[in-house]
Amino acid sequence: MPEQHPVRIGDTQVTTADSTVVLSPYDGHEVARIPACGPEQVEQAVAAARAAMADPLPPWRRAAILDAAAAAVADHRDELAQIIAEEAAKPIRTARTEAERAVLTFQSAAVEARTLTGDVVPIDGAQPGDGKLAFTLRVPRGVVAAISPFNFPLNLVAHKLAPAIAAGCAVVLKPASQTPMSAIRLHEILMDECGLPAGWINVVTGSGGTVGDPLVEHPDVAVVTFTGSPEVGWAIAAKAARKKVGLELGNNAPLIIDASGDWEAAAAKVSVAGYSHAGQSCISTQRVYVHRSVVDDFTAALVARVEALVVGDPLDEATDVSALISPGETARVKAWIDDAVRDGARLATGGEQRDRLLTPTVLTGITPTMEVSANEVFGPVVGIAAFDHLDEALALANDTRYGLQAAIFTAELDGALRAAHELDFGGVLVNEVPTFRTDQMPYGGIGDSGNTKEGPHYAVREMTHERLVVIAR
Ligand code: NAP
Repeated sequence: MPEQHPVRIGDTQVTTADSTVVLSPYDGHEVARIPACGPEQVEQAVAAARAAMADPLPPWRRAAILDAAAAAVADHRDELAQIIAEEAAKPIRTARTEAERAVLTFQSAAVEARTLTGDVVPIDGAQPGDGKLAFTLRVPRGVVAAISPFNFPLNLVAHKLAPAIAAGCAVVLKPASQTPMSAIRLHEILMDECGLPAGWINVVTGSGGTVGDPLVEHPDVAVVTFTGSPEVGWAIAAKAARKKVGLELGNNAPLIIDASGDWEAAAAKVSVAGYSHAGQSCISTQRVYVHRSVVDDFTAALVARVEALVVGDPLDEATDVSALISPGETARVKAWIDDAVRDGARLATGGEQRDRLLTPTVLTGITPTMEVSANEVFGPVVGIAAFDHLDEALALANDTRYGLQAAIFTAELDGALRAAHELDFGGVLVNEVPTFRTDQMPYGGIGDSGNTKEGPHYAVREMTHERLVVIAR
């Protein structure tokens, strides 16, 4: 039987009597065996994190660790991409891009560590402040509990660890049970090659209920940073009422293509943005509202590109789209496609299940009540609907419980400005797909998409509080 791959808590390599088996979503082979942690390991990890914070890391050391992390992740790019591809069924070229993005995440966190500062407060602008000097200091809030999803098992972990290091907070990380190996390997690299002292990051692997609950409820945890589904995220926020809780949740990202918009450019981008990692991205382009005058041209261009996507083994360099994270998810998405067709949508291409693979799908004539429109598909499916007036398209895009990112293709300044002002989302993109993200930008949503912004500059501010200092003569 293969050996259990340990996790590290403090300076201890931890294994447990029981193992959790990590399986390939593509062909079901065993990827690794990892510890099945429980409340005992959570206790140990939170204690190690608290102990680490008793000996604070000065900002220049945090910056040096983050610089080293960026360089080390770049050096290990191919190894990390291989792990991502195997455990998440993310096509290898897309997995490499994820590893490259993690480099940028560490680089921009290093900038934050070097420049994090408070403000000078104009305290003598009011008479009681006369003769006094006031300023704020950015102080680490305390131990961070980081909980990450399966779909970006490296870079979304980096988006939690890197700002925490920049902020001076120690972390207990619980990676997704389906994809823990990228996080475990990153942690090893940080400790062995980047000068991160023991206890600053601790990894506990185990299910949400067994490990997640004691972690978010632990009295010595000050911050919870969570990326995942709204159902789990809001339940965590309810359990952690006295903690700072940052939630990055789901979306059913809309894109509007106005009559003046470059529909050919849009089709080229959507053929990637709707299908990358089989649509399992929180900003996967899902609902496309196209002006009636160009809807047939856009649909034909998109279908031609989607039919050229290569579906198969994630480790094959040619593959564009591989398996969904589990057979259950494949069956769910397939059922949503079938329901949409039963309710009047037309299957323009795809919709075919081949064992664990689902062929990239384009539906036309979607309506707001269909699951593929109203909820987050998290699968390789793009739905199209035609509109006549921009008012109608803006209303359709806004008709959602989510609010992460939305986008418009238009050549009209008026259309761009209306989208910027009227699309009720955390981010609005013009002549780009809603799937666009770079790692330093403020990224986060409203409504059921969450309550915070990630990107190291913003996350560091969530993980620190501002202490006011007033000095009187
Ligand atoms: P999920 O099922 O909500 O799981 C996310 C994480 O929460 C996993 O580590 C999971 O652990 C853990 N968890 C489950 N129950 C828990 C509990 N009671 N207490 C604490 N932790 C618990 O989400 P997922 O399926 O991995 O990811 C897909 C979702 O993430 C989608 O909705 C997607 O839109 C969203 N997402 C959002 C962003 C963003 O930045 N806004 C980015 C990526 C993904 P187990 O794995 O052990 O169950």
